Amino acid sequence: MSQKQTHAFQAEVKQILHLVTHSLYSNKEIFLRELVSNASDACDKLRFEALDNAALWEDQPNLEVRISFDEDAKTLTISDNGIGMSAEEAAAHLGTIAKSGTREFMAKLEGDQKKDAQLIGQFGVGFYSGFIVADRITVETRRAGLPADQGVRWSSEGTGEYDIETLSKPGRGTDVILHLREGEEEFLKTWRVKSTIAKYSDHISLPILMKKETWDAEAAKQVLTDEWEPVNKASALWSRSKSEISEEQYQEFYKQISHDSEAPLAYTHNRVEGRSEYTQLLYIPAKAPFDLWNRDKRGGVKLYVKRVFIMDDAEALMPVYLRFVKGVIDSADLPLNVSRELLQESRDVKAIREGSTKRVLGMLESLANSEEEAERAKYAAFWKDFGQVLKEGIGEDHQNQERLAKLFRFASTHADENVSLADYVSRMKEGQDVIYYITADSLAAAKHSPQLEIFRKKGIEVLLLVDRVDEWMLSHLYEFDGKPLQSVAKGAVDLGKLLDEDEKKKADETAENLKPLLDKLKDALKDRAKDVRVTTRLVDSPACIVVEEGDMSGHLARLLKQAGQ
Ligand code: ADP
Ligand code: MG
Repeated sequence: MSQKQTHAFQAEVKQILHLVTHSLYSNKEIFLRELVSNASDACDKLRFEALDNAALWEDQPNLEVRISFDEDAKTLTISDNGIGMSAEEAAAHLGTIAKSGTREFMAKLEGDQKKDAQLIGQFGVGFYSGFIVADRITVETRRAGLPADQGVRWSSEGTGEYDIETLSKPGRGTDVILHLREGEEEFLKTWRVKSTIAKYSDHISLPILMKKETWDAEAAKQVLTDEWEPVNKASALWSRSKSEISEEQYQEFYKQISHDSEAPLAYTHNRVEGRSEYTQLLYIPAKAPFDLWNRDKRGGVKLYVKRVFIMDDAEALMPVYLRFVKGVIDSADLPLNVSRELLQESRDVKAIREGSTKRVLGMLESLANSEEEAERAKYAAFWKDFGQVLKEGIGEDHQNQERLAKLFRFASTHADENVSLADYVSRMKEGQDVIYYITADSLAAAKHSPQLEIFRKKGIEVLLLVDRVDEWMLSHLYEFDGKPLQSVAKGAVDLGKLLDEDEKKKADETAENLKPLLDKLKDALKDRAKDVRVTTRLVDSPACIVVEEGDMSGHLARLLKQAGQ
């Protein structure tokens, strides 16, 4: 393919391009963060592939990013000597969006620019952000290991199409050349670019170089020399000590790795020593991402080994129910060429996962149990967004069942939200030895259930479980603090010691008197009901349906039916 070929963008790309250029303008400098992070990713990829194939290093053993500009041509160029792209890869990666979740993403777009822009951030449509400031982007790239004449020039105005042609490129890696739009000349100034790098990309662990400037007295202005100098600190943030890191740096780092535009809810940064040595910097986001419900989605924790990037989404590092956690784990023990399969089996990884899980639960506990109202409010907000995911943990993580159960919050007949099991237990009535709950499709349905009548009358609190995962949760959570969980809609609710003598006597008498009626009803309903009983659970309603103790609840049966089972 020596001749220029024109291709149309995939439809989704067109839509995203439009959004990016129109809704991210207020924060336009982020394009630099995105392009530098791609350059850094490309270097990481080279380092990783070169573990198996040292020839990929060619004659350039130092990985770096160079940023330069041409004032006359009005171009800003971000270059890296990373992995580069073949022609097929350039077409696939820059002309389509192949990532899973794209459809979900597109479905979420609402045409509300502010919200959509936030979504874009989460989704990380990095490369296209260049079009915020450029009316043409040219990418010149050659994949490491391919001959010089198999370079590629990809070029587009960011509207409907892009061109691809062959190019001779001696150095491996990628140059992204931005032809700046009218009015974006600020990005042709060293200080402007430098300060943006400092803000967003200081932690990038390879050198980002720019040409040094010097004062030219004759021209009375700063001019560029031919000498390159690093403009970032190039120290992996997590490897510095806590006291050297400002709150702002922690937050910036989070935004960088998570593509979240909001500050995190909480973070934890520790160096763990002992049998397994590692550093962890873990964040809890403030808002749920759009694809939280996708259990196949990989985790948000990046694995490094001694500051060398190994892989993204290392799911073995976090249990699935903590898939919303973002951050970095840097191990001192694992081999550099560790594979996903090896990770699953490694004892070191198991120790890391257990340690990290405890840290995350610890962060949540300190919010939930804080003396400060504001911190507890943060936990309540967290629970709203992530509570249902956390509930998955009760079946997945037996080791931490008790800690998890303490973190759970529910609605009850006492309060519409935020009721912990400990709160419930502290309000239990004299003589009450079980925790009562009811499951339903909605809070309103739960509240209006006739099965609650006697409990209301007696002032006994009942948990109202209305999340889809609750039924599943209940199949793993049987008790809390030694008190069994008991459905008010199953079997014969034995209010036992909670009824007074009179009430008991009356109940027995009623049962005796109604026996003939019951027999008739049983007979009439014999194909449709297992049993007909007199109950103490109703006050105003004449009758209600219950399921047998140990049977599937009516609510679960409905859920399964909806799911086509
Ligand atoms: P992401 O970085 O989240 O994958 P981007 O839109 O930023 O999404 O980039 C899309 C893809 O284009 C990358 O995954 C990568 O395959 C490719 N790419 C972008 N920039 C570079 C680069 N400098 N070198 C090599 N590949 C790149
Ligand atoms: Mg990117």
